[in-house]
Amino acid sequence: MGQHIRVAVAGAKGRMGQEVVKMLGQDDRLAYVGELDTREDESAVKARLEEMKPDVLVDFTTPHSIYRNLELCLEHGVRPVVGTTGLSPEQIQEMDRRYSESQLGCIIAPNFAIGAILCMKFAAMAAKYMPHVEIIELHHDKKLDAPSGTALKTAEMIAAVRQEQKQGHPEEKETIPGARGADYDGFRIHSVRLPGMVAHQEVLFGATGQTLSIRHDSINRESFMPGVNMAIKAVMNMSGLVYGLEHLID
Ligand code: NAP
Repeated sequence: MGQHIRVAVAGAKGRMGQEVVKMLGQDDRLAYVGELDTREDESAVKARLEEMKPDVLVDFTTPHSIYRNLELCLEHGVRPVVGTTGLSPEQIQEMDRRYSESQLGCIIAPNFAIGAILCMKFAAMAAKYMPHVEIIELHHDKKLDAPSGTALKTAEMIAAVRQEQKQGHPEEKETIPGARGADYDGFRIHSVRLPGMVAHQEVLFGATGQTLSIRHDSINRESFMPGVNMAIKAVMNMSGLVYGLEHLID
């Protein structure tokens, strides 16, 4: 048992949480020690953590819970691996400061699928040369936050290399509000929500006489598990917060 990483899961009964529990059961180096519901009162949460003694808390809950869950992990010295999306950039910055002060490892990844990470990286490469870009993200209709954490992270990575400029006709008018999507540094993000979808993203570039489309599709939730597995192992040897799985791969 000594070599095992003890892993608790918040949101274990959710769509992602169930996949995580299954994945933990398939890896001899990881021990699933149980689920944690942080909506219970403080003393019950504390007692549960003392009972499970987790090294890592994998969190796939909701945008409402995640900030408090990160605080709880800090208070109890548990390393979080967070897939939950919906944290604001300010909240991430604040947690970055607090985890770096405490030197506790923490990974927040808006997308654990390797193909989605590559999609973001390729999009950032392309945006340097083709600055006219729009992001379309498509998800199932139970998703609470829009745009997706992946789209926001992609937008951030694009904005870091793209000269800021407003796209479209300068006099363009929306006859139905929202028709052109959300504005991020002058380019647009569109969120589609439909049953039957899992998690998909297309980044479209346009230049004179040519277009480029970069698309990623997660067709099931197993697609995220190798990334979650890697993050659990990585967070044990880290100090401070890492935002984005791309920082854990070359
Ligand atoms: P879901 O099916 O609604 O699951 C969320 C689960 O969390 C539910 O079982 C819910 O319980 C539970 N929960 C809510 N608050 C809690 C708390 N404070 N403590 C413990 N459990 C709590 O949602 P999902 O589709 O699995 O998605 C979960 C999150 O992961 C979302 O933010 C989504 O955007 C994100 N996500 C990330 C990735 C990635 O690769 N990073 C991939 C897919 C999804 P009740 O049902 O009892 O309320």
